[in-house]
Amino acid sequence: MKYFIFLALIFAGFLLIQGCAVQNHATTVERDKENGCTIHVILQIGIEGTDADVIAVRDQLEECYSKKCVIPCENDNSVGCPVLSHVNVKKWSALSDDEKKSFHHITMVNNDGQPSNAHIGTPNGGPKTGTWRRDEPPRTYCHEVLHLAGLKDQYCSRVYDTVTHTSVVEVTCDPPPDPDGNNCCTATAAMIRCGQPCPGHNNDLMATLTPELSCDNILDVVKKAGLNSCPEACCPHHHTYYNPKNLIFIGPSYVHFGDKDLHYGSYGGTGEYTHFFTPKIGATVDIGIYFHNDKQNELTTHYQQWNATAGITFIPITKPKPHVIFSTHALFGISTYSYKFTGNGFTSNKTSQHSFTPNIGVALDWPVSKSFAIRLVQADYMPTFFSKSTQNNFRISIGAAWMF
Ligand SMILES: [Zn+2]
Repeated sequence: MKYFIFLALIFAGFLLIQGCAVQNHATTVERDKENGCTIHVILQIGIEGTDADVIAVRDQLEECYSKKCVIPCENDNSVGCPVLSHVNVKKWSALSDDEKKSFHHITMVNNDGQPSNAHIGTPNGGPKTGTWRRDEPPRTYCHEVLHLAGLKDQYCSRVYDTVTHTSVVEVTCDPPPDPDGNNCCTATAAMIRCGQPCPGHNNDLMATLTPELSCDNILDVVKKAGLNSCPEACCPHHHTYYNPKNLIFIGPSYVHFGDKDLHYGSYGGTGEYTHFFTPKIGATVDIGIYFHNDKQNELTTHYQQWNATAGITFIPITKPKPHVIFSTHALFGISTYSYKFTGNGFTSNKTSQHSFTPNIGVALDWPVSKSFAIRLVQADYMPTFFSKSTQNNFRISIGAAWMF
């Protein structure tokens, strides 16, 4: 018996959880239960009509509302909170009495030339009703659903009065005035109904059926539910950076020149240009020149080394966008090493040698903005092979990077 009560309790708990999960508004605008940065707009439409009506409406609505929109972050409109729209079209007669409380109720009728209509609803409010004509032009039902979701028309219209033979006002713009000097348009015996988009709404599905349903429409619905800002927590600093197409780095460098008989530290500058083919992979050119003077008694030796290499840069981690960008590179090219002596008014000729050099290294970039980063460190191993020997050279650089 105890076992039975225990099972019954679990079952009741399960029902309770299911009950909570059921959609309980005909138009729902809510944050995702797990990821509060994502917002869902869920529209539930019950069609009183034939199976063909349900299919026609569902096809049209699913095409319009399969949109992903974004509420932009205040500081950086290249990122933001995603808004996902969903439509759930069911046959009215297939809904239970309980489900009917969370579905808008649409009655389909044959096309008699009158406009389809829908009452203006409230996001997260009660269900509304409407009467839709069959075989309406594309996007008509998408427009009507926006009424159910809380949006009003953004056009003016006039109809022809067959008694007085004049064009009379049907709908006016809110806020006024109507376009064409408040005239809107003139209905005639030949065209008994006419209309025009209100000012600023030429590409608005609430004004005309020509444009697609836009993210502005969806965001207007989200605004009506009071969820139209993207919380700061969903817009972290620096998470916006690093999909540069091009990167230029310039900075000072220290190079340790390491031959078995001769080693010294030299200073100079390094410049790099990388063109990214994908967010992770780019082609890099690296050029640098470094100097070292060694004074012994009256004689000074002037060492100079310059490098030109090219190859591949690879960024292993781009998602989730890191705060500090780690990149690796493998470059190949040539290095030129030269020296001359000066002292007591004497200058020797310059002696030069060339060598193949690889450049294997890593870099850490700290993005400060979308177009600028500080290279915290770049470390490279770039051996050379002058005088039939191997020099194990290391280079450390810091500097600034521009992205564009
Ligand atoms: Zn309308």
